[in-house]
Amino acid sequence: MRTREDFLEAARTVNHEIKEQQNRKSIRYHWHEADVTVLEGVLARGDRRIGAVIANAYRNGALYDAWTDEFSAEIWERAFAQAGVDPAFYTTRERDVDEILPWDFIDIGVTKKFLKKEWQLAQMGRVTPNCRQSCSGCGAVCYGGGVCVENKN
Ligand code: SF4
Repeated sequence: MRTREDFLEAARTVNHEIKEQQNRKSIRYHWHEADVTVLEGVLARGDRRIGAVIANAYRNGALYDAWTDEFSAEIWERAFAQAGVDPAFYTTRERDVDEILPWDFIDIGVTKKFLKKEWQLAQMGRVTPNCRQSCSGCGAVCYGGGVCVENKN
């Protein structure tokens, strides 16, 4: 995941470019708060240690964090520090493709082998064909529905 500073720089770049456009008055640009984006990244990738962070944040006063005016990055920073958890472990750390991930126990049909292959293709800038063009064997066919079986009777 990109860093908070990367997100801010990207938002500034886009904002600047929009201001340069002749039709700028007809363009509306909203960007996500960088601190919220990073926190979402942690929560999306988090393991059981994040439970203590969430409990700390609640005790520190976090409640309606989805509302921008209620969100406090400082409350969450304190919550991470109290739990001894570094957010970067879940966001900017480069992971080994063989790392065991917190959600690996959930069977979604799509195999880890397929996801690893997709990661390698993405790094080479290669696009996997649309499922309606050809099946790439992701594993979701095990559910026997949707695009995997349409028009194949
Ligand atoms: S057609 Fe089904 S099994 Fe094949 S790649 Fe698409 S979702 Fe996966």
